[in-house]
Amino acid sequence: MTRYREFHRRSIEAPEDFWRDEARRIHWETPFETVLDRSNPPFARWFVGGRTNLCHNAVDRHLAERAQQNALVYISTETGIERRYTYAELYAEINRMAAVMRSLGVKRGDRVLIYLPMIPEAVFAMLACARLGAIHSVVFGGFAAPSLAARIDDAKPALIVTADAGARGGKVIDYTPLVDEALARAQHKPPHVLRIDRQLAPERLNASYLVDYEPLREQFFDVHVPCEWLESNEPSYVLYTSGTTGRPKGVVRDVGGYAVALAASMEYIFEGRAGDTMFTASDIGWVVGHSYIIYAPLIAGLTTVMYEGTPIRPDGGIWWRLVEQHRINLMFTAPTALRVLKKQDPALLKKSDLSSLRTLFLAGEPLDEPTASWITDALGKPVVDNYWQTETGWPMLAIQRGVEALPQKLGSPGVPVYGYNLTLRNEQTGDVCAPGEKGVITLGYPLPPGCMSTVWGDDRRFVSTYWSSVPDQQLYSTFDWGIQDDNGYVTILGRTDDVINVAGHRLGTREIEEALSSHAAVAEVAVVGVADPLKGQVALAFVVLRDAERYAPEDARAKLEADLAATVDRQLGAIARPARVHMVAMLPKTRSGKLLRRAIAALAEGRDPGDLPTIEDASALQQVRDALTAGGKA
Ligand code: ATP
Ligand code: MG
Repeated sequence: MTRYREFHRRSIEAPEDFWRDEARRIHWETPFETVLDRSNPPFARWFVGGRTNLCHNAVDRHLAERAQQNALVYISTETGIERRYTYAELYAEINRMAAVMRSLGVKRGDRVLIYLPMIPEAVFAMLACARLGAIHSVVFGGFAAPSLAARIDDAKPALIVTADAGARGGKVIDYTPLVDEALARAQHKPPHVLRIDRQLAPERLNASYLVDYEPLREQFFDVHVPCEWLESNEPSYVLYTSGTTGRPKGVVRDVGGYAVALAASMEYIFEGRAGDTMFTASDIGWVVGHSYIIYAPLIAGLTTVMYEGTPIRPDGGIWWRLVEQHRINLMFTAPTALRVLKKQDPALLKKSDLSSLRTLFLAGEPLDEPTASWITDALGKPVVDNYWQTETGWPMLAIQRGVEALPQKLGSPGVPVYGYNLTLRNEQTGDVCAPGEKGVITLGYPLPPGCMSTVWGDDRRFVSTYWSSVPDQQLYSTFDWGIQDDNGYVTILGRTDDVINVAGHRLGTREIEEALSSHAAVAEVAVVGVADPLKGQVALAFVVLRDAERYAPEDARAKLEADLAATVDRQLGAIARPARVHMVAMLPKTRSGKLLRRAIAALAEGRDPGDLPTIEDASALQQVRDALTAGGKA
C-alpha cells in the first residue's frame, strides 16, 4: 500500500505542488499565476489566471497527431444507425454547430439548455458550447415537461437545443410536445429553440419558435469558430443532481480544474491511454456521461463509444458484442445494468470475444456482493467500483490501479482517491470515526480540482447545503453514510437520511439490503425505515425475487420469509431484522437507476410520496402500495 499511501498523502499535504504537476496534462493558452486560491473558504479557485478551453483540449489539440483516429463511435440499437467520427470530422461538426449557435446569438457566458437523446449532435452541441464559452446545461432526455420547465427557469438559457424525438426500448418519444408544454409552463422564454430533426417523430409537429438545424449546418459548413480562452474558474456547465433526495441542485463546474482532474483520472483511475477505446454506457444527461462519455476520454485522446439503446435489446448479449466488434478496452456502467443482465441470460457474456477489455468500471449506486462476484468471475478481469457524486465530477473512492493495483474488497468501492481529504465523521460531534465505526462521509477543504464550484446562482445554498452540517468545521458533507476499515477501505451504508434507528441502534439501509441480497432467491431489494411506536423505527424490506413463481404457494413463501429473516439475524443480528418482507415485481427507481427509498418509506407510513419527476416507472409505486395493502401495514 505504500505507493498509494505516499501518493495520497502528498496530494493532501502539498496540494499546490501536486496539482501544479498534474496541470501539465492540458493546454494552457495563458499560464496560471496561482495554483490554488483559498482566500474565500469554502470556495476554492484552481489555476487562477490560467486561460484554457475544454473543446480545444478535447479535440483541437489532438488534430496534429490523431486527426484520422476515431474520436466518436456512435451506435443506436433503437434506429440501427452506426456512425464514426474521426477527430478531424468531430472538429468540423463542432465548428458547424458552434457557428450555428453563434448565428442564433449565443455568446460567452450564455446558458444553452441541451435536451437531446443519445445522438452525436448532443456531443457536438456540448463541445460547441465549450468552444464558445457558453455554459451548457444538459437535461436528461427522459424528463417530462415539468422537470424541463424547472430547469429552464433556473438556468435561463439563451438557446434550447432539442430533437424531434427520442427512442427507448423500441418506443419513439415525441419531444416537441414536451418542449411545447415546458415552454408554456416556464417563466423564462428563451429566444430560440434549435431542433435536430432525426425524422423519427411519428408526426411532423411544428411550432413557430422551432429552427431546424440541418439547413443552418449547410450554411455554415466550412466555417471555423475560434475557441474562447476562458479563465480557469469561469463556469463550463451547470448540471442538476439526479433528484433522488429532493429538489435537484444546479451543480456548477469550472473549466481548468475540471480538465486537469479528468485528464489525471484517466491515468490514475481508468488507465486509459491515447488510442484506447472506451465505452461508457450512461447518458449525457448524467454526470458520468459528461465526464466519461465526453470530456475525459476525448481530453486523453481515446475513442469514445456512445450508445443509444438498452442493455437487453435485441438481447442481453448486445454490450458484449459491441466490446468484440469495436475492440473496446474500457467499459463503464452502473450496477443496475449488470443486475438486469444477470437476471436475463448471464451466459450470453461468454459468447463474445472479450479479450480487448481490460477493466470494467461501475458507479452510481452500491454494488452488491453477489453482483460483484458474478461479474468478476464471469469476466475474469478487474471490476472497479467507484463512488462519487454529480457534485464531485470524478471519483472520490476507488482502487486507483494507475497508482497501485490494491486488492478489491467486495462490497467496497475502495480507498480515498488522491486530492480528496475524505474522512468519516460522527454526525453529532464531527469527530473522526475510528476504524469500524459508522459515520458520515465528509471531505476537507479545499475540494480538489474538478469538483463543483457553487450552486448555480446561489452561493449561499452551496455553503448552507454542503458545508454546514458539522458545526465549527470546514467540512463538505456527501450525505452518505459509511464505515472504514483498518486499511482505509470504505463501505457505503446508505444515504444519511436513509439511516434508521431501531431501539437506539443506528443502521444503514444498505447493510440490511446487502444481507438480504446474499440470499439466492433475491434479485433486488430495498429497505426503508418506518415509524414504530415501540422501537422508534423498524425496517421494512421490499424484495424482487429471481423466480417469483416458485414462491407463489403460501408455504414456500412463508419458508422464504423465515429464511430471509434468519439471513439478516446471522449477518447483522436480530435488531436489524425487517419487521416485514414484502414481495414486489419491481422497485421504484430514478431514471438513473437509483432506488427511491424515500418514496417507499412515505407510502409505508401512509404519507403522500410527493412529486417524483425522476421516477423511471411510476407503476412501481402501485406495486409497493399493493404489497403494503396485501401484507397489512407495519
Ligand atoms: P440528489 O442529490 O438530487 O438527491 P443523487 O444524489 O441521486 O441526487 P447523483 O449525484 O447522481 O445524484 O448520485 C450520487 C450518489 O449516488 C452518491 O451520493 C451515493 O449515494 C450514490 N453512489 C454513487 N456511486 C456509488 C457507489 N459506487 N457505491 C454506493 N453509492 C454510490
Ligand atoms: Mg446527492
